[in-house]
Amino acid sequence: MNHALNKNYGAIQGPIVMIGFGSIGRGTLPLIERHFKFDKSQFVVIDPDDSNQEILKRHEVKFIKAAVTKDNYKELLTPLLKSEKGPGFCVNLSVDVSSRDVMNLCRNLNTFYIDTVVEPWAGFYFNSKINASERSNYALREEIIKEQKNNPEGITAISCCGANPGMVSWFVKQALVTIAQDSKINFEMPKTRIEWAKLMQKVGVKGIHIAERDSQRSKNPKTPGVFVNTWSVEGFVSEGMQPAELGWGTFEKWLPKTAKRHEFGCQAAIYLQQPGANTKVRSWCPTLGAQYGRLVTHNESISIADYFTVGESIQAEYRPTCHYAYHPSNDAILSLEEMFGNTGFVQKEHHILDENEIVSGIDELGVLLYGHGKNAYWYGSQLSIEETRKLAPYQNATGLQVTSAVVAGMAWALENPTAGIVEADEMDYKRCLEFQMPYLGPVKGFYTDWTPLKNRPGFYPEDLDTTDPWQFKNILV
Ligand code: NAD
Repeated sequence: MNHALNKNYGAIQGPIVMIGFGSIGRGTLPLIERHFKFDKSQFVVIDPDDSNQEILKRHEVKFIKAAVTKDNYKELLTPLLKSEKGPGFCVNLSVDVSSRDVMNLCRNLNTFYIDTVVEPWAGFYFNSKINASERSNYALREEIIKEQKNNPEGITAISCCGANPGMVSWFVKQALVTIAQDSKINFEMPKTRIEWAKLMQKVGVKGIHIAERDSQRSKNPKTPGVFVNTWSVEGFVSEGMQPAELGWGTFEKWLPKTAKRHEFGCQAAIYLQQPGANTKVRSWCPTLGAQYGRLVTHNESISIADYFTVGESIQAEYRPTCHYAYHPSNDAILSLEEMFGNTGFVQKEHHILDENEIVSGIDELGVLLYGHGKNAYWYGSQLSIEETRKLAPYQNATGLQVTSAVVAGMAWALENPTAGIVEADEMDYKRCLEFQMPYLGPVKGFYTDWTPLKNRPGFYPEDLDTTDPWQFKNILV
């Protein structure tokens, strides 16, 4: 095996408790085994669904068939996490389990914690009694920020450390440094949040797309009535039904009709009164070029915009616009069409494409920093299904971009054990990418002359802002 895939990233003294063993949990298990020293007899996985149990048997990992709920989480998790030997690690890769509550429990028990999304308890996403602002990722993130402010010290707990949110925050910093260097801008490597924000302001970045094109395709064509995706269908449907949300930049001159501001919190983002997965934006990825992406709400759209803010709140002097522009796999696009066409009723059958049925494709996932002196620059991973199969078992390319970020985050936590609650933006991007790089396939940067005004044939009248191609007005379809 390639030496980098065998490297030891540290020792976990206490137990490892993995909550959720779906597409991401399954893929994370072999990477944890490869990169950490730990006591196997103290590794336990909890999931109400036992369909992946065979894998756990093969790896001799204990399994508890149970749902972690608001009522039972303390009772269920405390004995599993308590340790005499030193801190253990709780790896939360489930849906419907509150990140905030489990994170707090772990911190009280002196246990490391990591997740890939700020997840609420079951029932939140489809609760029609709360309004769109309350159902937003902005609101979920504010709860974590509140904990961070009230309780800054203590054992490291990492919020949202998957591919996106997660790895893309590390890509943003690397991309920014490259653009600054290529533009011959005089700067010192930033050391603090505000120095990073000022560098982005100096480089003149107007905004950032998390620009993703997933071209993985299955040998079995999608049949009607099935929602097909390359990762959690439940996760995608939940976030896709949340309002579209975006970090709202200081250079924007126009607000969409459906846009709203929140009445609380950091004010780095706005939301649109429409589901994100049904909101199209114009964006660009290197292999297939210009594309429609879906403006699905994501934690990183808000955390990145917040991190790179100069000034405060609505009156900020500088802030980049930031949002997801996601072209999921073609089968997922068809699934969305079917679901929204059927007034939002989710298909009963769910299917996650696995590494055995995918015949070809790459998950091209990167960040597009735009509006600066060199127009736009995309930097990211172009991991293919073929390479994924060689690198790690039980996952497709989308999965490996996530699971390798989880492992990178865990490694960083062991090196920084008392960092308190952190988001990916606050971690050492170079060190994290060093841990993750062996799993990302080609990681490359591309400058492009594409703008959202390019190649619009003008057959029909359009309300555009021709004075500035990068206005959100020109991006929103
Ligand atoms: P999945 O749907 O394949 O698996 C989720 C698992 O959680 C299932 O096995 C399910 O049975 C289990 N689960 C459901 N309720 C539970 C409960 N109450 N207690 C314990 N387990 C429970 O999803 P996935 O693709 O593995 O994704 C897992 C999580 O990771 C999701 O929250 C998803 O949104 C997130 N994710 C993040 C990124 C990222 O890049 N940040 C990418 C992909 C997925």
